[in-house]
Amino acid sequence: MDGLSARTTPGTALARPVTDLKGIGPKAAGRCARLGIVLVRDLLFHLPLRYQDRTRLVPIGALRPGAEAAFEGTVELTQVQFGRRRNLLSRVSDGTGAITLRLFHFTAAQQRNLARGTRLRCFGEVRSGPAGMEMVHPEYERLAPDVVTPVEQALTPVYPTTEGLHQLTLRRLTDQALSLLASETLADDGLEDWLPVDVLAGERLPTLRAALAFVHRPPPDAAVTEILAGRHPAQRRLALDELLAHHLSLRRARLNARDRHAPILRENPLPERLRANLPYALTDAQKRVFSEILADLGTPTPMLRLLQGDVGSGKTVVAALTALTAIGSGCQAAIMAPTELLAEQHLRTFSRWLAPLGVPVHWLSGRLAKSERARTLATIRETPAALVVGTHALFQEGVEFARLGVVIIDEQHRFGVHQRLALRDKGRGEHGQPHQLVMTATPIPRTLAMTAYAELDVSVIDALPPGRQPVATAVIPDSRREEIVTRIGEATRSGRQIYWVCTLIDESEALQCQAATETAAALAASLPGVRVGLVHGRMKDTDKDTVMGDFATGAIDLLVATTVIEVGVDVPNASLMIIDNAERLGLAQLHQLRGRVGRGNQASDCVLMYRAPLGPLARERLAIMRGTTDGFVIAQRDLELRGPGELLGTRQAGVAALRIADLVRDADLVEAVARVSDELLANAPDRAEALVNRWLGHALDYAEV
Ligand code: ADP
Ligand code: MG
Repeated sequence: MDGLSARTTPGTALARPVTDLKGIGPKAAGRCARLGIVLVRDLLFHLPLRYQDRTRLVPIGALRPGAEAAFEGTVELTQVQFGRRRNLLSRVSDGTGAITLRLFHFTAAQQRNLARGTRLRCFGEVRSGPAGMEMVHPEYERLAPDVVTPVEQALTPVYPTTEGLHQLTLRRLTDQALSLLASETLADDGLEDWLPVDVLAGERLPTLRAALAFVHRPPPDAAVTEILAGRHPAQRRLALDELLAHHLSLRRARLNARDRHAPILRENPLPERLRANLPYALTDAQKRVFSEILADLGTPTPMLRLLQGDVGSGKTVVAALTALTAIGSGCQAAIMAPTELLAEQHLRTFSRWLAPLGVPVHWLSGRLAKSERARTLATIRETPAALVVGTHALFQEGVEFARLGVVIIDEQHRFGVHQRLALRDKGRGEHGQPHQLVMTATPIPRTLAMTAYAELDVSVIDALPPGRQPVATAVIPDSRREEIVTRIGEATRSGRQIYWVCTLIDESEALQCQAATETAAALAASLPGVRVGLVHGRMKDTDKDTVMGDFATGAIDLLVATTVIEVGVDVPNASLMIIDNAERLGLAQLHQLRGRVGRGNQASDCVLMYRAPLGPLARERLAIMRGTTDGFVIAQRDLELRGPGELLGTRQAGVAALRIADLVRDADLVEAVARVSDELLANAPDRAEALVNRWLGHALDYAEV
């Protein structure tokens, strides 16, 4: 500390590199940098992930599996268990109950230390073992007989860390940062309270400084349950600050994008001609979102729009109308899909729609032969006024667009932010940068959308095409497999088409394909007369294409598939789906899969077949699926069960990686965040800047738009 103040002027020590602190060498500094800790101030924003409660001793009889707890007891028996692995087992009791300590690695000294009669204090996670409760490698200390050893006075913070950086090191460094925080009072240390006073007062929230000090070192008299639940005002204060920083960074990215230019795409006859050729009329919802898109395209400001609509709501045709608006204005349109199968389907659909209008459709996938790829690339480089359909191969090296007017990304939650930005950058040219339409069927709860997609405008298709009937869902154990097979036979005789989905999570794709192949053979054997098809990820593209085409035209009755059909596949006549091992899938995936049926006017069914016994979480998921077909309800439940990282897709984790805020718990803060964010950007952009740096200083690259 003394050394520090000699080297630095008051008020700026927090802005100095962490290497100014005591007890940190170049190695530890490197590890800190990996955690985004470069300046002393960054330590203050490196918040505890959770807390350990060592403030009270729990009677052994009251320990519960899953809980982390401290307890004391006397060793009754210590012995080495021989087996596949040598274990040291130590039985400890306190009169209320007994628990086993289990050590996989141990020394002779440790074994002696745990001799019968020794009094121990232990801390660790309780779990249920083969012989009752146990603790694997607990922290323990031997207690002197008949002496009362005091317990910790306050909750112990546990920090997110990285290999080679100990909790204790982080705690010592944070201690130093906190004492600087307490001593510094100047206003320019980056820790000002920039939240409007009315917001802080309304929520009865402490100042930023007080909140930081509290959260790192909760005082002994703090309300433990409130803190452990993340509901303490100090935690909410920081959550508010953090949500605001994220919101601001996305809004700022959006403002930057607004400064760029895009080609003006005017209304023209092409979209109208497609509409006239469609066998159905657009729904009001489709018309509304298309007019929102048209309004964006007609300006020289790049569109950044998220088109959200539940599975089967009819986003594809809106994409086609958008593409045609660009093409009719003499520009190219590109549509990118996350799987080969979906991209191929788009190629078929769009070719069917655009060929009568005389609009060329080009195809770019990662699997094109070299010569074909070269030819396609040349065409894309030279032909404006065309549609290019493809997978992420669209933004790979060597792809140059002639004049890209709009980029459309289907099932965007399957792509990372980077991939989306890469495609847009591809299309940058002297005509400006393309407009962007990103589509998703994963309905995002409003609070999450407001935070994660703050840089996008949102259009919602909130109604399904007329005549749809909700899919009836049954949850059935696979002991009734034969019954289901019989039912499939009956269904095909009455002209229905069926999907049988084979799932194997966490196993290789090869195994999944093998399972599907075997299932197809078994089903074909037990269902003579039923035309069985098979599609999986390891088949040749042309074979997949043929099978999907045959299923679409009704030449196949029963399609056995892996989860390759999960996104986007559209065969409206299919009306029954069996999902094998449904208990292994998450809600979002189940909802997507089930969305492959119920796309026409006939009543559809979905059978979720599971292998017993069901765990509590799987049971709950299946019950939710049986109870509703509403994507928004399912997404909300998914958010509650799994958290936002999963819902947004792991690749977008950057957006969702919040340090202290929790989008479910703190949902009530989001409205205030959006309001304050706009106010700050308008009235005090420099403060907005500082606030973003505070939280995202070293992690901002993803948002560079
Ligand atoms: P998603 O939003 O899941 O991408 P699709 O665009 O694949 O949905 O459309 C689902 C099905 O609904 C398709 O078979 C499509 O032809 C049909 N469809 C789309 N719009 C309408 C409409 N306005 N009226 C009737 N059917 C429609
Ligand atoms: Mg779709």
